[in-house]
Amino acid sequence: MLGSGQLGRMFTVVARRMGYHVHVLSPASGSPTGQLADREVVAAYDDADAVARFASGVDVVTLEFENIPSASLDAAAARAPVRPGVFALHATQHRAREKRFLAGLGVPHVPFAEVAAGGDLDAAIGEVGTPCVVKTAGFGYDGKGQVRVDGDRGRAEARALAAGQAVVVERFLELEAELSVVAARGLDGSVATFAPARNRHERHILDLSSAPAPVARAVAERAREITVAVLEGLELIGVACVEFFLEPGGRLSVNEIAPRPHNSGHLTIEGAETSQFEQQLRAVTGLPLGSAAPRRPAAMANLLGDLWSGAPPDGAPGVAPDWAAALAEPGVALHLYGKDAARPGRKMGHLTATADDLQEAEARVLRARERAARGHGAAPS
Ligand code: ADP
Ligand code: MG
Repeated sequence: MLGSGQLGRMFTVVARRMGYHVHVLSPASGSPTGQLADREVVAAYDDADAVARFASGVDVVTLEFENIPSASLDAAAARAPVRPGVFALHATQHRAREKRFLAGLGVPHVPFAEVAAGGDLDAAIGEVGTPCVVKTAGFGYDGKGQVRVDGDRGRAEARALAAGQAVVVERFLELEAELSVVAARGLDGSVATFAPARNRHERHILDLSSAPAPVARAVAERAREITVAVLEGLELIGVACVEFFLEPGGRLSVNEIAPRPHNSGHLTIEGAETSQFEQQLRAVTGLPLGSAAPRRPAAMANLLGDLWSGAPPDGAPGVAPDWAAALAEPGVALHLYGKDAARPGRKMGHLTATADDLQEAEARVLRARERAARGHGAAPS
């Protein structure tokens, strides 16, 4: 496993349950994945020699972090199969390449213009029109590296963003909902799509996901069809997530692709026949994929560091929320990622609730989180 956060950790839980050994390459020791893996190798992602040595010691390389430099990926691929695959990673590591890939497939995406580092940003904004969002082409996550431009508002900030790096300018869409489809593609080329999730963000960070999303059947089917086309087009082996924007008229467009398990797929652990992490394991080891059918309606709420009282600026671990209060709510599961310091905005864990219907699952998970936040310090961190 290249990358050592919560996605690698949840993969490792499944892999070890099924008798596999997991080695993880991590930039720091004692990582969320390293705590559970058989072996944690501490090295920087851009240390191609270390990545090569690491890959020599395993049967297959997968990842939970897509921004691994291409020299390191090539070094790994020379020693072991890299799944999802070097092409899939190259196409999805850069927003402009990703959009060109989508356009080539004939898949609907957000209208955009590309600007090279130091290029003519104003011309691109003029072409797309405002309101628009200027996003760095590489290394964006949780809304980082994005500036909204409305008329003249935000232009100076956008110019500063675009001065030293390539950006894309996207039309800012009015959204009815945000959806995502997590899917797996096996070594034999078969694809299994999970039910679409509906996602709500707070401060650009995913806050609440629920599935199966309450959308028209035609919208759900279209989203799944597009997802299959994307995974096949990428020739990806493993798990990926396609994020969609749904506009009020029913128009669906792809926002972005993550070539790995996704935060909106965490609810598959309790909500689906096979979790996204087991699908990743099955795909990269050449096993048949499991059923991606839903078991029960499920909702997931992220637990950010903000919930820990007395968290940094001072770097203190913070006092944990009241998990006992959260778990008194029926149908709720707690997942904590083993991160030491609770910083604002840092994903520390999540709660998932299942119920007979989606509304009840959402109500349960939000109540559980609310109860946890109200009663600090009653349980160990
Ligand atoms: P990240 O890599 O941070 O997830 P995204 O491109 O998915 O970046 O943007 C994060 C969030 O910002 C989206 O989920 C959506 O809520 C909002 N957003 C981004 N681009 C647009 C857009 N073109 N129109 C409307 N909302 C957008
Ligand atoms: Mg996103």
